[in-house]
Amino acid sequence: MIFYKNTGYCFGKPFDYEQLINGIIYLTFSFMFLQRICVGIIFCLIQTTSMVGQTSSFEVVPLGVKGGNDESNLSSYLVAATGSKQYVALDAGTIQAGLDKAVQQKTFAVPAIQALRKYIKGYCISHAHLDHVSGLIINSPADSNKTVYAIQSCMSLMQQHYFNDKTWANFGDQGIGNFLKKYHFETLVPNQEIALQGTSMFVTPFVLSHVHPYESTAFLVRNGDASLLYLGDTGPDAVEQGGRLLALWRAVAPLIQTQKLKGIFIEVSFPNEQPDKFLFGHLTPRWLMQEMQVLASLVEEKSLKGFPVVITHQKPPVANEKKIVAQLKAYNPLGLRLIFPQQGKRLEF
Ligand SMILES: [Zn+2]
Ligand SMILES: [Zn+2]
Repeated sequence: MIFYKNTGYCFGKPFDYEQLINGIIYLTFSFMFLQRICVGIIFCLIQTTSMVGQTSSFEVVPLGVKGGNDESNLSSYLVAATGSKQYVALDAGTIQAGLDKAVQQKTFAVPAIQALRKYIKGYCISHAHLDHVSGLIINSPADSNKTVYAIQSCMSLMQQHYFNDKTWANFGDQGIGNFLKKYHFETLVPNQEIALQGTSMFVTPFVLSHVHPYESTAFLVRNGDASLLYLGDTGPDAVEQGGRLLALWRAVAPLIQTQKLKGIFIEVSFPNEQPDKFLFGHLTPRWLMQEMQVLASLVEEKSLKGFPVVITHQKPPVANEKKIVAQLKAYNPLGLRLIFPQQGKRLEF
């Protein structure tokens, strides 16, 4: 019987130790290589996820963008944490026509009625003017159970004049007459944050002035570290008095400073030619820029350069809307990134 170095018997058959060791080394390296690839893939996934989070925190679908006349396109903006389908409507001037437009443009892949019932988890109403609430009223019979959020003054007006069991059925769970309890009416406390039911978001309301003493509301929507600010109708502090906008700018300045505020939705209803005594609690391009200068004075210089500002509530006629756009572009000393929203077209922040 001949014994070779590094050779042995296994189950009666000869084998080579060198081959065995080479095999083990090969398997070990293969395993280590595979392990590195797996770790690499997991690391890339984590990076990508966090990058997506960094580049976009909110998605907004405008259901209505105008400030008057066209009842199929009045103020309403759906906001959700990016990637979720859990929206809250900021104002509800137009709902159905906006959802139809969003479906047409393939922003939503489900029928409008399904988007209404399943995607919209609640409504934040800035004030009770019909151009901000008529879509909510008229769609309420087809709607699903959800929450309506508003500050006391706005909630009272909606309960007294709309959901009062006379001009319209009371779809709420409080107020006048028979309660149908489809909507929970949640009265917001100014400057206090509250969770938006059915979503991962929170909202803080700030009181605005909209022809003193009539009130409107700004909603600061937060998702994790990121926030988005939406203002209902309001006039400049210099005209309205009371310093409501200054108080709001002071509240959000730290969020701009730390880059946590992702954008501001604010109205510009009239062109500059509108005299101050006929502003009716609204802004012009010049007044918007003046208010933005106040905000800029509260943050580090250049913090607002390239900052997204969405222009809402332009009032017809079309000639005026064109003038508003031209005047804003012609005088933008802070270098704001001006965004002119379109009905049904998704925006990311
Ligand atoms: Zn108004
Ligand atoms: Zn309005």
